[in-house]
Amino acid sequence: MSEKKPFEIARETLTQLSARKLAPTPANYQKLYSEVSGIPIEHSFPVEHLRSIAQDLPTRTPGQQRLKGLLDSAIGQLNWDGVKAALAAYADHSPATPAQSIANSLPASALSPGNGSTTAPALMIDFFEQVARLIEYTLPALGSDDARFAEQTRAMLEAMRQPDADVVALKPMLGNFGSRLSFAAEDQAEIRGTLLKLLHLIIENIGELSLDDRWLKGQIEALLRASSPPLTLHRLDDVERRLKDVIFKQTEAKGRTIEAQDEMRQMLATFIERLSQMTESTSAFHAKMEKNARQIEQAKTLTEITPVLKEVVSATRSMAHDSLNVRDELRGMREKAHATEAELVKLHEELDRVSAQVRHDPLTGALNRKGLDEAVEREVSNVRRKDTPLSVALLDIDNFKKLNDRLGHAAGDDALVHLTAVTREAMRPQDTLARYGGEEFVILMPDTPLASGIEAMTRLQRELTKRFFLAGNERVLITFSAGVAQLADEEAGADAIKRADRAMYLAKRAGKNRVLGA
Ligand code: GH3
Ligand code: MG
Ligand code: MG
Repeated sequence: MSEKKPFEIARETLTQLSARKLAPTPANYQKLYSEVSGIPIEHSFPVEHLRSIAQDLPTRTPGQQRLKGLLDSAIGQLNWDGVKAALAAYADHSPATPAQSIANSLPASALSPGNGSTTAPALMIDFFEQVARLIEYTLPALGSDDARFAEQTRAMLEAMRQPDADVVALKPMLGNFGSRLSFAAEDQAEIRGTLLKLLHLIIENIGELSLDDRWLKGQIEALLRASSPPLTLHRLDDVERRLKDVIFKQTEAKGRTIEAQDEMRQMLATFIERLSQMTESTSAFHAKMEKNARQIEQAKTLTEITPVLKEVVSATRSMAHDSLNVRDELRGMREKAHATEAELVKLHEELDRVSAQVRHDPLTGALNRKGLDEAVEREVSNVRRKDTPLSVALLDIDNFKKLNDRLGHAAGDDALVHLTAVTREAMRPQDTLARYGGEEFVILMPDTPLASGIEAMTRLQRELTKRFFLAGNERVLITFSAGVAQLADEEAGADAIKRADRAMYLAKRAGKNRVLGA
């Protein structure tokens, strides 16, 4: 700070002005004055200019009004920081009806003059084009059964694409379209809900018909789970494949069962018929015998007895003949019943073979190898089309043989079912789970780079430590080792699984219960 007196500072300033050959303007004088005195220049606050700017700001929405109030108050307090903050907030503030507000907030010169309507300025032509495209994307959802509405929409799109689009005229058209779209969306949601309910009903009904088949029962439960909201295309795809399997197996099973039932029914009918014939002939024989016995009692001479004896012999012979016939017939029927039984066993075996050919594992309901092959093919072609990452994980349960040995094979089976259930809940709906071998599973994770794939498997490990497997009353911790590989460019799906398998093997070697990237 200078200790010079004001008049000394003034004199010195003037001397400097002439010494430096500067023009004697107020700005130069002020600059030198500040330099000589050491007092910083105080810029004056342009209150009037700022007020006139503030006055021109539109205040149509409550938000705009509030921000204009803040600006006014900052100007009143000569507060630059306040002015800056209020203007920045005003610029950021997004009005409720963008198109109209943008149009309204632009100065009249930006709008082309003409018929008195509010036409689109240059920057809005692009905006309208985008809105028009957005509307075109929504049209398939609206259907094409209302010709009048289709015509209105076409006219609106055309109006929107005019270089001098009339914003005011477009507003009601857009409003009309918007409410129509919201009705359509409601309809679609309702249709989807009703279709889902129907699907559930059908699936439950199929389930009722196949109570005695474990595989089918498992499939029905999986189907009911897969067809619960939220529905994705991926899940619908799964539902479709499972339904095809169920229908295929059920048709097969039904045909054979009806045949076997018919045969059994026929045999039963023959048996009953023979039995009644047998009873009839036995009671006729008894009656004859009684009559003969009475005749013998009453006979006085041998000649009287002889014809009676003849009758007895012939009746007994015919009775024996009848019995022999019936016995032979019954023996034949027994053999036939054995053959039918063998046929039924064969049928069961065949059904099991058919189950192996379908796409799902009977125990866990996860995809089997065939199902996995199809899923890999589908996911790999998606990757090539959309250029998104796909990760595949291969997991193998640790020390599973010991678990089987200690708790029994049935508990081992239950452990596999438990692992499948926990995995399904931990993974995303678009992930695919397949049983690769005995206690080995493959998980396909679309849209997932390697690091996220490893993370997902680690999450599953954590989930398994939280959700124990219950073998009777014993809580058993199931752990696994896993390898994760991200499908490389041009790599076959099977090769990525092989890489994941190698990484899994390394995870076992490194001490098990861990996840390694390939
Ligand atoms: P590691 O930690 O090295 O993987 O040891 P492990 O005991 O899990 O592996 P190993 O390959 O020695 O044994 C796998 C066992 O899995 C042997 C087999 O009996 C059992 N297993 C395979 N499929 C099934 C099944 O469907 N049910 C049951 N209960 N056990 C199965
Ligand atoms: Mg194994
Ligand atoms: Mg194992």
